[in-house]
Amino acid sequence: MAKLLSPLSDIAIIGGGVIGSAIAYNLSRSGAKVTVFERDHVASGASGVGAGIMSIIPEHDRSSPLFKLGAASIRLLKDTCAALKEETGLDPEYVPVGLLRVAFTEQEEHDLKQLQLWAQLQRMEADWINHDDLMQTEPALSEGIRGAMYTTGEHQIRAVKLTQAFARAAAHRGTDYRLTAPVAGLTYQGERVTGVRLADGSQVSADHVVIAAGAWSSQLGADIGLNLPVRPVKGQLVHLYAPARVMRLTVMHGIGYVTPKVDGTIVVGATQEEAGFDARSTSEGVAAMLGVGSMLVPALSRAEIAEIKVGLRPGTPDGLPILGPAPGWEGLTIATGHFRSGITLSPITGKLLAECIIDGTVSPQLTPFLPDRFA
Ligand SMILES: Cc1cc2nc3c(=O)[nH]c(=O)nc-3n(C[C@H](O)[C@H](O)[C@H](O)COP(=O)(O)OP(=O)(O)OC[C@H]3O[C@@H](n4cnc5c(N)ncnc54)[C@H](O)[C@@H]3O)c2cc1C
Repeated sequence: MAKLLSPLSDIAIIGGGVIGSAIAYNLSRSGAKVTVFERDHVASGASGVGAGIMSIIPEHDRSSPLFKLGAASIRLLKDTCAALKEETGLDPEYVPVGLLRVAFTEQEEHDLKQLQLWAQLQRMEADWINHDDLMQTEPALSEGIRGAMYTTGEHQIRAVKLTQAFARAAAHRGTDYRLTAPVAGLTYQGERVTGVRLADGSQVSADHVVIAAGAWSSQLGADIGLNLPVRPVKGQLVHLYAPARVMRLTVMHGIGYVTPKVDGTIVVGATQEEAGFDARSTSEGVAAMLGVGSMLVPALSRAEIAEIKVGLRPGTPDGLPILGPAPGWEGLTIATGHFRSGITLSPITGKLLAECIIDGTVSPQLTPFLPDRFA
């Protein structure tokens, strides 16, 4: 297909989260001239809060196309993190230790064993660990756990550091990060988007604009009559600290999890709340998360509360991200709606959307996620 943009075209990205920054990084690697407009600071949205669990196995909807996209992203992760660390000196704290999904009841054990079979059919390494062996591997886990599914191909990372590393690497290659620069809307002529309109009234022209504004993307679409049904889904999590090392592996149970980080903190998450743009932490949310922590790892009830974090995930009606060219518009690409998986999906999103913008090729991997499904 013919190249749509010359390598030196101006590309404006709205949003300096992990998605906007991963796209900026990939575009800047191909020599494009990129400007990122960020309302606040890099990783000030959900990307600064995400727990950094790179889980891809769908516990409920096994027909979801997210699994394949997630697997493709995980394949890029190790090399991406190594390249980012070398280029920026920032360590995204990629730890490829695998993940435990635990069962407390017979039914949960049955369900997880079904999931294990499914995962094995997808060529994922997935083993069942019985109670006694589990206690040897992770002695701090609750005695009430019957067993766990252990997957080696799902990892963990530090979300905020991955985002900052993408941003710094992009900046190092010439991307201009305009911080505290809220975008009020898009400028256009006919059916071509021509740039962005900033909240201070100024306008910046661009050959191509990318909306990567997370939970706030919907309004930017509405400005030009484009339906981007993205809503905020609030997540609260608690960072705990215990001087002695409590655990090594990430442990998941339903939507609750406990994940140890390189600096010794243990992240316990996360609530899933429909609360609009209300990003306050609540005693109910924090109490629920502390309950998850001590249910999975009883010793955590004595850990110190280091920090409470709240983020707004970009949710969509079908739970899938919205990725690709905006229907009915030239010069506009959408990259939002990553909901609970934006950190995991950032390497592949950055790669595929940069290719889409530079070459005009829409990878078949993007087909289930194209924005025109909401047109
Ligand atoms: C509690 C919690 C736990 C999570 N855990 C995980 C996890 O373990 N693994 C995983 O893969 N994912 C996880 N996620 C999901 C993940 O964090 C998100 O999917 C991801 O961060 C979305 O990235 P984004 O760049 O699209 O959005 P954001 O990070 O929200 O970035 C959007 C940016 O756009 C900026 N912006 C918005 N409007 C404008 C405007 N008009 N002008 C300029 N800038 C604007 C915002 O300030 C923001 O910085 C979690 C999320 C939460 C809340």
